[in-house]
Amino acid sequence: MIREYAVVGGGIGGCSIAALLNAHGHDVVLIEKEPTLGGCASTFIHHGNSYNAGATTISGYHEGGVVKRLFDTVGVTPNLISTNPAITILQGKKSCIRYRDIDTFVKEMERFYPHPKHGEFWKLVYSVQEAFYTLEASYYYSNRSWLKKIASLLSFYPLLKTFRSYLFSNSREFITRFYGDVTPEFMDFLDAQILIVAQASSDKVNFFTAALALGYTFYETHYPIGGMGTICESLTSKIADIRKGCKVITIKRDKKLYHITTSAGIIRARNLIMGTSHYESSQWFDDKEIRDYYASFEKRNNHQSAFILYMKIKSDTVFQHHYQLISDSVIPYTISKSLFVSFSDPFDTAFTTGYYHITASIHTDSRIWLGLSPSCYKTQKTELHDLLQGWICDRLCIRRDEIVESFAATPKTFSRYINRTQLGGNAMTLWNFLPLLPSNDTHIRGFYQVGDTSYAAQGWPGVVMGAFNCLRLIHE
Ligand SMILES: Cc1cc2nc3c(=O)[nH]c(=O)nc-3n(C[C@H](O)[C@H](O)[C@H](O)COP(=O)(O)OP(=O)(O)OC[C@H]3O[C@@H](n4cnc5c(N)ncnc54)[C@H](O)[C@@H]3O)c2cc1C
Repeated sequence: MIREYAVVGGGIGGCSIAALLNAHGHDVVLIEKEPTLGGCASTFIHHGNSYNAGATTISGYHEGGVVKRLFDTVGVTPNLISTNPAITILQGKKSCIRYRDIDTFVKEMERFYPHPKHGEFWKLVYSVQEAFYTLEASYYYSNRSWLKKIASLLSFYPLLKTFRSYLFSNSREFITRFYGDVTPEFMDFLDAQILIVAQASSDKVNFFTAALALGYTFYETHYPIGGMGTICESLTSKIADIRKGCKVITIKRDKKLYHITTSAGIIRARNLIMGTSHYESSQWFDDKEIRDYYASFEKRNNHQSAFILYMKIKSDTVFQHHYQLISDSVIPYTISKSLFVSFSDPFDTAFTTGYYHITASIHTDSRIWLGLSPSCYKTQKTELHDLLQGWICDRLCIRRDEIVESFAATPKTFSRYINRTQLGGNAMTLWNFLPLLPSNDTHIRGFYQVGDTSYAAQGWPGVVMGAFNCLRLIHE
């Protein structure tokens, strides 16, 4: 049987485009190497305990948000609860809450980082966020040809017109100019939040990107009941043909078809959508044109990745869903001063009963972890595991005897399970500006790409925007 669309990789990108194609009446098969869907946004079981692999927060599911539009289009309601406040940020002795209500949050800022310009600054951040989401559905991005690139830039014209003064300025300089004086502590506070969304620090992104990264908590954010992986499972619940535990080994093409050899046989399709990372996908092809296509984006690979600590604890303390711990120096074996710590909800009995399950992640560079001797790798992993565990316990007042289990994942672990070491996708830096980024279509017939290494960017909202863009390009 010849399929219309084969989607390789069941991360947020692959699941979203497969669900959208299915909802639009197309024939689609979704192929995932692991027994569960989600990739970086999956939930796995370790010693009988569930943990979110990487992603823990859903943003963009508010009324009018792109993630809500996806689920509404597909006709599925995900099992989510609202997270409020979005994050509690712990820096030194400060414990600053990112309230959704802007006036309450500005008062919080004035209390912890006194400055007369906070009201004006955070209202600017909020207005950029709001204007972006009002225009979001009209953006179109293809770099398949020069003509398409021009058409794409025109679709961004309203955004360019509205935000031109923020697009070409380095955000650190902009923020320093705006405030007049910025303490290193406040800059670290801003940088930590910019990094988790934009995947780069304030000196590498423009103010427009920084504002989007700083402002997402003014919208409703959500916690996935039963773990993040269940959200990808429900998103794809109406697709008849999902091949889990089916690993793609090679992909060949002729004039009409893509021939996908998997661990469970050959699948033939007229169109191929890759939901795997740009930087790891050429390995399945011997086709020169496709290998050259991937090679042309290789220089965008920043080798950024993550180190993750997973913990199960028994505690009577009431924890929020998310904390961000900020240090005043970069943590050894990482490239960051901050650790994002997420707790399972105590009432989420689909996930765990009577315990908290923690996923704590910090940015690292994959090259810090690859190519080490087995003993060096083990020592380094244990050292960082112990350091982060100690930091979490001290800062969140968790006693060591409350820890039931604790283990870590490095870029090597991610390579083993989901076939990628670069995590977080393309950073939204000044250098990675739009006409140079991979789009969701390509110049190769029937060959598409979704996920966080192509347009629009990482995380639920970015990857879902890319899936909608892909659908639009397919229907052109
Ligand atoms: C530590 C961490 C924390 C994060 N936190 C958040 C968060 O809180 N909120 C948020 O919105 N975003 C978060 N993100 C970002 C978000 O998780 C990613 O941007 C997103 O999940 C990427 O989805 P994707 O579809 O592009 O790719 P992936 O998740 O990488 O999916 C690719 C899929 O392809 C499969 N695959 C690979 N090789 C093969 C093969 N040979 N055959 C078949 N299948 C294959 C993999 O198994 C995987 O399932 C986080 C990311 C990380 C790393």
